[in-house]
Amino acid sequence: MPEHILESCVPLPIPEKELIEVTVKAKDWAIMHGAGMRSKTDYNPDNMFFVPFILTPSSFPRKEFNRAIKLQKILNELMHWVAHDVEFLRTTLAQTIKVDDFTAKLFGLYEAVLEKGVVQPISLGLIRSDIMLETRCGDNNERKTKCYCCWKQVEINTIASGFGHLGPISKEIQRYVLQELDQGSKLKDLPENNALSGICAAMARAWEVASNPAGVILFVIEDVSYNICDQRFHEFEIREKHPHIKVVRKTLTQIFEQGSHGPNKELIVDGNYVNVVYFRAGYEPGHYHSQNEWDARYLIEFSKAIKCPTINYHLAGTKKVQQALAAPGILKRFVNDPEKIQAIREIFTGLYSLDDDEAGNEAYKMALADPERFVLKPQREGGGNNVYGKDIPAVLEAMTPTERSSWILMERIQPPISRGYMVRPGGPMPPTLVDLVSELGIFGAIIGDNTMIIENYQAGHMLRTKLTTANEGGVAAGAGALDSPYLT
Ligand code: ADP
Ligand code: MG
Ligand code: MG
Repeated sequence: MPEHILESCVPLPIPEKELIEVTVKAKDWAIMHGAGMRSKTDYNPDNMFFVPFILTPSSFPRKEFNRAIKLQKILNELMHWVAHDVEFLRTTLAQTIKVDDFTAKLFGLYEAVLEKGVVQPISLGLIRSDIMLETRCGDNNERKTKCYCCWKQVEINTIASGFGHLGPISKEIQRYVLQELDQGSKLKDLPENNALSGICAAMARAWEVASNPAGVILFVIEDVSYNICDQRFHEFEIREKHPHIKVVRKTLTQIFEQGSHGPNKELIVDGNYVNVVYFRAGYEPGHYHSQNEWDARYLIEFSKAIKCPTINYHLAGTKKVQQALAAPGILKRFVNDPEKIQAIREIFTGLYSLDDDEAGNEAYKMALADPERFVLKPQREGGGNNVYGKDIPAVLEAMTPTERSSWILMERIQPPISRGYMVRPGGPMPPTLVDLVSELGIFGAIIGDNTMIIENYQAGHMLRTKLTTANEGGVAAGAGALDSPYLT
């Protein structure tokens, strides 16, 4: 077997007749159990396609999976204290906001909060830490043959961390496929995944903390929600397990038109008192069509509603903050226990500032000298914004030194390859056997204020898998597919 290939959990290739049969059934299973998405290219609110998925689960080393699960509570805590460290956020983002308009606007809201005072000190964090297995481990970072002894963090999301439904449902699709393939003995190695119930329980808990029995949970949504199943299943889960809690969905534009403050800074939208605001939009410039949407964001932030996330949590999730946290000696500002610090440090791959100073200039030169080693990232979310490998020099050279400070440079992770079938709407039948790489997302929930943490737990996971030839594997963005880990 060639190097860096993770062994499949089923014998490959699957004989053609069996492959066609099981793929046809699996597609139906997927769409009939809510693994659906609306088409971006052929949008129709009455239509739905199944979300691309990998037919059988991809292997993932059990030890590393468990280590990631165990670390999540510590990462939650880290992000909580980062989000509450005014000085750190201010210093870290100082250069970035001089050149990046969107981050500057977010920071402007944060400054306004600092000036006028926090109305609701309690925040709800629904975090997703995204990681990839790394084949270059050990002291000298050399690429090991058939050794996947570590994983590295790709990024940490603090706003609109999706796939709480699509994560668990991916496992169910593959469970069905394994059963149909007479591979039922493998099912015990598909880890439990309670992402949806865990995330919704945190929202319900925050709703309780807000303590208005007539209040609702407000989902802030995009003008068009392509990833509608993922969002709706959160809503259905809340309605089913916590039937006393109503869920209302509004865009930022609608919140601007229909929102106001009550006498005690309650958030009132379309006649509903809002206890909890859950953002599934608002993380990219395109979600703010005019000042109206920013006004809506201010209205929310300056209300008594518990926000997921607060503006400071949103800023704590920027790539710039991730890079700053990887700098030597920083973690002890937020975490006391040296063992925890060590455990966090181990997940960082090389992250470099591109600020207009000595270190930034060094990183700039390093990127030009060996671009294939790196990924260049701006302060954006939602996929499709990064620059990879050979494209980096031209992009960097077109910027002024000041402009570079709104980007960070990151070592490119080289994950091991797995083989499998990617099943997509309109894709070939039978699907072809392809080389794949995966990214695991671990969910965390945390509730607290600037002095204490009320609730902190890990809440399930999701796995996304893409072709080895693709730079990015966003499922909503179109390149990735749903998957779930098979623990080895
Ligand atoms: P976003 O917030 O837009 O999701 P990410 O940092 O997650 O930004 O980058 C998007 C995608 O790019 C990731 O899902 C991953 O597939 C790829 N990617 C990002 N950073 C790296 C890296 N350091 N090494 C390899 N791939 C990466
Ligand atoms: Mg990402
Ligand atoms: Mg992100």
